[in-house]
Amino acid sequence: METQNNWVARSLQHVWHPCTQMQHHETVPLIPVSHGRGIWLYDMDGKRYLDAISSWWVNLFGHANPRINAALKDQLDKLEHAMLAGFTHAPVIELSEKLSALTGNALGHSFYASDGASAVEIALKMSFHAWRNGGQTDKQEFICIQGSYHGETVGALAVTDVSLFREAYGPMLQRAHVVASPDARLARDGETAADVALRAAADLERVLQEREGKVAAVIIEPLVQCATGMAMHDPIYLRRLRELCDQYQVHLIADEIAVGCGRTGTFFACESAQIWPDFLCLSKGISGGYLPLSLVMTTDAVYQAFYDADVRRGFLHSHSYTGNPLACRAALATLAIFEDDNVIAANRQKSQMIASAFAGLKEDTRVKHVRQQGMIFAFDAVVDDPAKASTFSRRFFSAALEQELLMRPIGRSVYLMPPYILNEEEITSLAQKTMNVFEEVMA
Ligand SMILES: *Cc1c(COP(=O)(O)O)cnc(C)c1O
Repeated sequence: METQNNWVARSLQHVWHPCTQMQHHETVPLIPVSHGRGIWLYDMDGKRYLDAISSWWVNLFGHANPRINAALKDQLDKLEHAMLAGFTHAPVIELSEKLSALTGNALGHSFYASDGASAVEIALKMSFHAWRNGGQTDKQEFICIQGSYHGETVGALAVTDVSLFREAYGPMLQRAHVVASPDARLARDGETAADVALRAAADLERVLQEREGKVAAVIIEPLVQCATGMAMHDPIYLRRLRELCDQYQVHLIADEIAVGCGRTGTFFACESAQIWPDFLCLSKGISGGYLPLSLVMTTDAVYQAFYDADVRRGFLHSHSYTGNPLACRAALATLAIFEDDNVIAANRQKSQMIASAFAGLKEDTRVKHVRQQGMIFAFDAVVDDPAKASTFSRRFFSAALEQELLMRPIGRSVYLMPPYILNEEEITSLAQKTMNVFEEVMA
């Protein structure tokens, strides 16, 4: 039988891994996965790892989920793919209907792609083009939030404010305006999270005033900016953002690629602020972590801006796998689990269990900013030595593997974004192991 090390060598020879300085694999392990079951991933040696970050935030109901598997097997024998221009099919129709219903039909039109970055670019293009079709050709600029992450393709990177990902490509990008972050960690003495949010909203208003008539849309990750390190803000920011967008006639794009699908406690994160955006992007969890699928939901007003006899006023964007039936079927099976198992309510309890399991952290002086939003839990490690700080994440990742845990801190922000199928015992064990790893890395 081929050894684990041999698989690793073959991978390093021919697979160029994402978001990775490949040379780091001289010291950081690469794990060849043989199979997955529920919350566990198994390597080629039979060692298991609790997937505490849902395989890059996509897996909601565990690996090899019997219900999603069954739906996909059924779909495979019916239709694996058909083009969505000039043709349609049951999975894409039913999915679009269900998603529309989940917004009370506020966002009744869904446009499909395969990955999150493409969904973001679709929203940007649709906003720009909708204004243009309405004769507002000056609205060409975009605003994003400090620390924002919206994907790695050139258009999405233009509204991304993570310098590590962006800096090499600066000259290629048509940069957006970057406004102050509502991150609650920025609270000054005596300030609440809501105060920080309102202070940030005032900065946004300043830019909207300065660029009046020039801005097409503001794009935001509602409630939690995940990729920058689980930066969380008060929902009052979203309400103020909605008001400002209405006042200055600017579209609001909610990138719910990471925070949608129940992650923050409601199905859509925007629901927690009782607002709807003009565009809502979904990907990651929507297919249960099974197949690449993304989509942009939008309003009737935007849809009508393109509805015309003139082909050039239409939205002539496409991807080969737009609305892939298998991916849509996986999404339908995922939404069925939400309904059948009353997942949003169940998650409320799980989220409390996670909070209790980590209650001890609040007194730990090596820890700052313990924070939680639904099924996202995070804290920041206080590491004063710069050399140790810069390797914290990699050392944590390696130590976690030894404890049967898959966790990848972002800088010094340690976080959990687990699948929704954890039970109480597993939550307790996950918290205990996380603390053991933390002890070891801080020692
Ligand atoms: C992951 C992510 C994206 C990009 O999605 P990809 O499928 O990786 O292109 C965009 N926005 C947010 C908020 C994300 O978390």
